[in-house]
Amino acid sequence: MINHPSTQRDLPWRNLTELEIVLLKILTSQDFCGASILLKQIEFAMAKAGCECGCGTINLTCDREKVAPASVEHQPVPGEAHVLDESGSIVGGLILFARDGYLSCLEVFSDSRTELPLPQPSFIRPFIQEPYKAQDS
Ligand SMILES: [Zn+2]
Repeated sequence: MINHPSTQRDLPWRNLTELEIVLLKILTSQDFCGASILLKQIEFAMAKAGCECGCGTINLTCDREKVAPASVEHQPVPGEAHVLDESGSIVGGLILFARDGYLSCLEVFSDSRTELPLPQPSFIRPFIQEPYKAQDS
């Protein structure tokens, strides 16, 4: 896994792209503790580049006046995704971090030395880290 160098420049926050919104929705539409609140936060989130290695990692911030924090007990958030190449092999992953219960980083990591951009939705396979699945009631 690549160690992402954090951004040096103080970039301004911008609106999320359609791709970022779709990917965040896929990750937070999974059934884990805090997911539904994180999903709701997407609408009130802003983004900026989160890494200078050439990958698609973004930092996130939310308007905390407009939406409640999620109770997220694990970092990264349990809703993750594998990133696939055109032959369907896993080449990396998407992981999501929350700070104080708010979306804070969408990281794309590569299993090789090639940095990955944010993948198209058809090239990800979402999953939940096993120990953290929401308990059925
Ligand atoms: Zn990076």
